[in-house]
Amino acid sequence: MKLEASPTGFFGEFGGAYVPEMLYPNVKELQERYLEIIHDATFECEFQSLLRDFAGRPTPLFRAATLSRLHGCEILLKREDLLHTGAHKINNTIGQILLAKRLGKTRIIAETGAGQHGVATATVCALMGIPCIVYMGEVDMQRQALNVGRMRLLGAEVRSVTSGSKTLKDATNEAMRDWIANPHDTHYIIGSVVGPHPFPDMVARFQSVISAEIKEQCQAAYASLPTHVIACVGGGSNAMGGFFHFIEEPSVELIGVEAAGCGVSSGRSAATIALGRNGILHGSRTLFMQTADGQVEEAHSISAGLDYPGIGPQHAHLHTVGRVTYVQATDAEALSGAKTLARREGIIPALETAHAVAHLSKMSFKPTDKVVLVVSGRGDKDMGTYLEAFGGRISDDN
Ligand SMILES: *Cc1c(COP(=O)(O)O)cnc(C)c1O
Repeated sequence: MKLEASPTGFFGEFGGAYVPEMLYPNVKELQERYLEIIHDATFECEFQSLLRDFAGRPTPLFRAATLSRLHGCEILLKREDLLHTGAHKINNTIGQILLAKRLGKTRIIAETGAGQHGVATATVCALMGIPCIVYMGEVDMQRQALNVGRMRLLGAEVRSVTSGSKTLKDATNEAMRDWIANPHDTHYIIGSVVGPHPFPDMVARFQSVISAEIKEQCQAAYASLPTHVIACVGGGSNAMGGFFHFIEEPSVELIGVEAAGCGVSSGRSAATIALGRNGILHGSRTLFMQTADGQVEEAHSISAGLDYPGIGPQHAHLHTVGRVTYVQATDAEALSGAKTLARREGIIPALETAHAVAHLSKMSFKPTDKVVLVVSGRGDKDMGTYLEAFGGRISDDN
């Protein structure tokens, strides 16, 4: 199958741009210009050279020997954790900052939950000398004090959001309000494949470098495509990036792992595909967790990057047509996955990534399988959670 946005930004029945009238001119400008800008040869050249020299691409496709032996197949780790700022998010922020410059924007805003997208945005704004304002819930600012400090050191202004639950969805509302008030000089950098058209399509294109490299690296090493690509899914950008160039390759099995929190039916999860219903969230029609009367339900996951009640419209579509299989991993399974990757391969993954690692042990493979796992980020930011979870046992048990 092909995955292409319709002219109005739909993937099947999902997507579109449901924005308040006041936001319409900004969104319209982006819709009209993003393809022309990102297909321009000088843009492409500047994007590729920053990905290489600033972010550190290409990232290795590492053959994990111990995991390969354990699972009886080839396990290949796509090392997005080695990128500058520690996760795949920098791919998208570099793309969007270059686009903002070409649109003549002189001010950048972003929202952030755990702070990873905020840090990636503050980083590229510092690089380009563009003022940056990051909206962040007051609760998240307390939980992620280190990332707040990083953003401030990078010169960004972090604005505390005290409305609602004082977390990501409230920060998103505040950023939208800012964009409405500053339509001419400001670009809003959304951090995942969510939001109104063209954001899901645009972010997927910027992240597609992940699967372009996987394809090339797998061809070089094995003269074949991978048999599986597995990635964790929050909003869905690292997964879309990892799947992008394989969507039209029916032999490649694509698996997205979402966060089941305390369990899919525990009432405390972020299992959007398993539990979500069709509706409009943050500017697009997609699947999200809703109460009986259609209100957005609070999500729960041990990993802040997966703690989101919705999912990008491409994923809602890929699920509906059956091209991608979506599965779930709980908080406890993710913790165990993180420990496995640390102990077996010497890589401490982000808690988000650990959900994808956890799913490996629920699958069975053939010796000829080549299984790519997208390591979306590194675990430095999660050491507090790991120490709390493993406590004194961290050093002596296996
Ligand atoms: C933000 C984040 C995610 C989740 O976002 P996606 O858009 O679903 O990729 C996953 N892993 C890491 C390391 C992150 O920082």
